[in-house]
Amino acid sequence: MDFRTVYTTCAYCGCGCGILLEVLDGEVIGTLPVKTHPVSQGSLCIKGWNIHEFVVSERRLTEPLLKKNGRLEPVSWDEALDAAASRLKRVVAEHGPDAVAILASAKVTNEENFLLSKFARAVIGTNNIDHCARL
Ligand code: SF4
Repeated sequence: MDFRTVYTTCAYCGCGCGILLEVLDGEVIGTLPVKTHPVSQGSLCIKGWNIHEFVVSERRLTEPLLKKNGRLEPVSWDEALDAAASRLKRVVAEHGPDAVAILASAKVTNEENFLLSKFARAVIGTNNIDHCARL
């Protein structure tokens, strides 16, 4: 049996509470607060206590989907990324970068949200980026 904890930051809101994800045999099974964290000081709200649940949720998407003939169909990552890139390029070319808005998610890591911010500003050229914690 391999048990360990991974020190990270709750991604659900801007407070940035410290959490320890409990990992048993490679599977995330729980969340603990970090007593020494300067922001949360050992406390978490109910969202933070349960943040590990979406990682293993059976409802989580595990493959890219693309709408074809009005229905979402599983496709390869290459096909999904090509479709997204070509459609974003078309919108920017026809309507300008501010015709695009990026809505980031609390269900990805803070580092991935940072990359989305860079993508919006440096690649698309828009400041239209927001996060579901503010919506
Ligand atoms: S534990 Fe609650 S207050 Fe702390 S960052 Fe997560 S959602 Fe925000």
